[in-house]
Amino acid sequence: MSLSSLQVLVDNDNRNALLLAEVAAWLHDIGKSCDSHVKHVSGQKTWSNDDAYKVVVDHPNALIQLSQGAANIKKPDVLNNVLSAQSPKAADFIPKSIKDFLQDTRVHILGQNYALAELIMLGMPGFATHAQRNQLLDRKDGWLPAVLGLCHNVAHVDKEDPIGGAQSLPNVLTSNAFGYEEQKFVLGDPQRGLDAKLVQLKINTTALADSRKDILEAFQYGLGDTRRPTNEVTLADWSATVAALFKTALAGAILTNTQPQIRQWKSWKDKIIDHDFHWRLLRVNFDVLGLYAKAVRIADLLGYQRAVSEACEAVKKLVEEEYPLGNEVYRDTTGIYFTFPDLDLPADLEQEIRRRVEEVEPELAPRIAVTVGDGATATEQLKGILAKARGEAVESLAQPFDEHNLSPAWHQKWEDAQREPGQWEVCPVCRLRPKREGADVCEHCENRRASRLEAWKQDPAHTIWVGEIADHNDRLALLVGKFGLDDWLSGDLVQTMLVKADPNHNIFTPKNPSPARLRRVWETCQRFWDETVVKHSLTNTLGCLGERIHILPDKTNWTPGLYNGKVNGKPLDLFWQPKEKAFLTVSNLQAAGAIKPGDTVTLEQPDTKQKAEFQVQSIREAPAPFDHYQAYLTLHTSPDQFLALVPAAKALKIVNKIYMEYERQFGKVRNRLPLFLGLIFCERKMPLQAVMDAARSMLNMPVKEEQWKINAVDGNGHIQFENSIAWNIPTVMGDGQTEDLWYPYFALENPPAAPRTRQFQHGGKTWVHVKDLKQGDAVAVTPSRFDFLWLDAAARRFEAAYDAQGRRPARPTRPFYLEDLDRLENLWGRFSQLSRTQQKQVLQTIETTRERWFGRDNGLQSAANPTFKQFVTNTLANAEWDWKAISENQRKALTAVAVRGDLADLAELHLEILKENKE
Ligand SMILES: [Zn+2]
Repeated sequence: MSLSSLQVLVDNDNRNALLLAEVAAWLHDIGKSCDSHVKHVSGQKTWSNDDAYKVVVDHPNALIQLSQGAANIKKPDVLNNVLSAQSPKAADFIPKSIKDFLQDTRVHILGQNYALAELIMLGMPGFATHAQRNQLLDRKDGWLPAVLGLCHNVAHVDKEDPIGGAQSLPNVLTSNAFGYEEQKFVLGDPQRGLDAKLVQLKINTTALADSRKDILEAFQYGLGDTRRPTNEVTLADWSATVAALFKTALAGAILTNTQPQIRQWKSWKDKIIDHDFHWRLLRVNFDVLGLYAKAVRIADLLGYQRAVSEACEAVKKLVEEEYPLGNEVYRDTTGIYFTFPDLDLPADLEQEIRRRVEEVEPELAPRIAVTVGDGATATEQLKGILAKARGEAVESLAQPFDEHNLSPAWHQKWEDAQREPGQWEVCPVCRLRPKREGADVCEHCENRRASRLEAWKQDPAHTIWVGEIADHNDRLALLVGKFGLDDWLSGDLVQTMLVKADPNHNIFTPKNPSPARLRRVWETCQRFWDETVVKHSLTNTLGCLGERIHILPDKTNWTPGLYNGKVNGKPLDLFWQPKEKAFLTVSNLQAAGAIKPGDTVTLEQPDTKQKAEFQVQSIREAPAPFDHYQAYLTLHTSPDQFLALVPAAKALKIVNKIYMEYERQFGKVRNRLPLFLGLIFCERKMPLQAVMDAARSMLNMPVKEEQWKINAVDGNGHIQFENSIAWNIPTVMGDGQTEDLWYPYFALENPPAAPRTRQFQHGGKTWVHVKDLKQGDAVAVTPSRFDFLWLDAAARRFEAAYDAQGRRPARPTRPFYLEDLDRLENLWGRFSQLSRTQQKQVLQTIETTRERWFGRDNGLQSAANPTFKQFVTNTLANAEWDWKAISENQRKALTAVAVRGDLADLAELHLEILKENKE
């Protein structure tokens, strides 16, 4: 295969040069990954001068050769500093192998010739914009390092520097994108110090692409800037962004055989450089959840999951390495996005991407396009380009895939099949290929399934069996999560956080939605799912691992594979392991009850429906590593969406844990970065396709802004809203002392009568600091929500649909506010003091009356009806409990939730779904 349109990227060793130049960009701020640098920028002048952190070799003078004329030119400060730097400088801390590599490796590209270290030391905006840049170096015009300096500038985080904000040593904290701080490194610590991480860094010079992962890992701990509030962009975000821009800028120059120019500062104040570069995004999109929804078994779904990831990796290799055009900058439920030169998509590249994707899985049906950003300058274009590309992707994924784009191999398969004897049908999984009548699925889907099964055998602690995730009632829940990220990825809401806040001089400057910062925004969300939710919330809530046992049967002539069974009338799934001559249990043993020798187990082979039975001879512990499993299964994580299967009985606890972490890590922006959590409860036997359909509908719930009126404030982050929700917004930074002037702002619905101490304008609204909110203020809130669905019949999946107001026509009380769940659960606890029989009687009386008086009551007229309210109050008061003994507040609250119908919802959740039946 060779792509003629891109051949020049490979010729003349350009490919290698591009990959080397990329590494220089990755490492261009490696000196920031030193303890000394953090000390230096925090006020302890540690380096020999301010640019000594750029000096990555022992003798910069030996590498950077100035021209004879340079003596008479006023040189840029950065150049003077680099050349005059003494120890301590970055080179004193960088491993020798990396120093040698940077010094001895040269990039030859477009007639330019520089050592990597030269690129790093010169690649700064100050050098790039110097009026006589092309006369400074001996026989070199400085263009290549200038491009790096430009990319550094374009990726740059803020135009304006924070006011003060220096952190006190040694406890330097790293913020997430939204003002939640943690200590990621410990200065001077032999394990947790930045120097310690740097010493371990290695560059694999024969596999440069692999080195990226190592650099990214090491640089996660470093910071672009340590001052508040710009201590949120990590060195990893920063370096990855500069590298992607630099690589793409050079690839574009090679492809067009031009050297776009970099001139001087257009605006020093706004840090805008006058230059000719532009960037675009290449997007390769798949309907990931649509594919998952085709799965009949978990193994099918996980097979698709792997296919998507392999397809992304295949495209990545093509675009990042084989024809180095750019780097991945984002990936989510809609597909993968790369930086791309300022060119249209070449037809042969599109074709080759499609071919690579189809090689992995023809059903992926990729939509491939190049997105051009809006705006006149490169910086403006980059701000909104990811959001624009995602928008285009969603639109194109909503269109049915064009038949003509499908490879002719599909039709061939059917024609071939017809020639063979026997009957053929459409495969129920892929719904595309022919399968033999009587076979479960087509050959292709069977292989996908089988390969996933093999992967499980290698790593049996990660279960793929729904029976193992099911709880003691044999029920499970699909947990769906979603962040309302759209207006963040567009850069809009990034500007509701401040880089400068000085109430004394009325200076309030929004943060700049630069590419590096947008990366940090989605990276914070991705990390929330991967680390907080999976590693913390799920594992902690589920507690100890599930156990598996070996059951030895009286006959041993079984076909290997899965069997659905029953023992003593209770469910039991088994997996025949021929070598062991034993059945491994692959369902929750609590659901099966005690199993003893002599018990009869009835079985059904799920594919053939063939029935059989055996008698238990003996039982023993399953051998490691088959003896334990984690009782959850992550199906999907991307910055915006999350899917996992969990035991039904633990699902509410998990939701609560996730919510608490969200409050902690996203609390300062909770009014504008909503979290949606949903639970789809089902019996283990519920078809997966119905469950996935319901999940997709839930994830489509519209994210709606509302107006919330403030009832009371304490001036220190506590807000009581009229709708009875209360928030405690953190008002200090992670050190517990520094006042947070940058993150916790609210948009007022109406301009304030008198200006507040801390306020600024954005998007036509006045944004006011939480401490300056007042009673009676109406603020814009995009609330977090919680919903659940009991999928007791497959047809009920259609109930997970929302109208334009974001309500479920079938259940007008829902979704709940996520922040209300705790209060509702407490009220349920109070109501549960009635006997179960009484609870059911009370609710039945209320709900049948509601139906008799108001019919289906889609508009919730009942909730506003005083006669109905009186009826509900009387019903509660007359129940068999001491109503008068309950506090007046609680009586009011209980009446309110009973009138609205929330109480009936809670009853469904606790009594029907979770079967909390303790009479
Ligand atoms: Zn198939």
